[in-house]
Amino acid sequence: MFCGASPGRDPGYLALARSVGRGLAEHGIGVVYGGGRVGLMGALADAALAAGGEVTGVIPRRLVDRELAHPGLTELYVVDTLHERKAKMADVADGFIALPGGLGTLEELAEVASWAQLDLHTKPIGLLGRDGYWDPLMAWLDGAVEAGFISAHHRSLLQVDADLDVLLARFDRWEAPPDRWGSPTVA
Ligand code: AMP
Repeated sequence: MFCGASPGRDPGYLALARSVGRGLAEHGIGVVYGGGRVGLMGALADAALAAGGEVTGVIPRRLVDRELAHPGLTELYVVDTLHERKAKMADVADGFIALPGGLGTLEELAEVASWAQLDLHTKPIGLLGRDGYWDPLMAWLDGAVEAGFISAHHRSLLQVDADLDVLLARFDRWEAPPDRWGSPTVA
């Protein structure tokens, strides 16, 4: 899960994170996220834990205080760098979901998407939002396809789903493309 370390201005963002956390737990799906207690990250983790879900956090040592490492997680990995955090999250996760967030969220999403287009992993990716939060990014992606910088196939890897159940149904139907680079799937 990639999502903001901030709560967002509209309380609907926190509500979205809570409902996704709860929904994942109810589906028996463990959460892997950045390990913080703040913003949408914290709301997601708290809701998943409260619903009896498993939550794994991956946080760089330097962010333990700044993002207030969550003390109640099922498992917390403290790593040395942001790069290690992303690599660990990508390794442990079976799929990626982005909720509203800022540059950190965008960076994490862009990395797994660009790795997917190089077949460095074959895991599904989805975005959930509210009030058209992701519309500008979707418009930029469409423009990049139009301009010849992203293939239509790679564009189709990134789509905003209506809600968690729709997204999970798409993940269930996901057929990973053949892994051209051999194991492990994440470099
Ligand atoms: P933001 O969306 O900016 O609120 O950030 C969400 C999360 O992404 C926070 O846990 C940040 O620490 C994290 N983050 C920010 N930059 C990076 C990066 N370059 N690599 C990995 N995680 C990052």
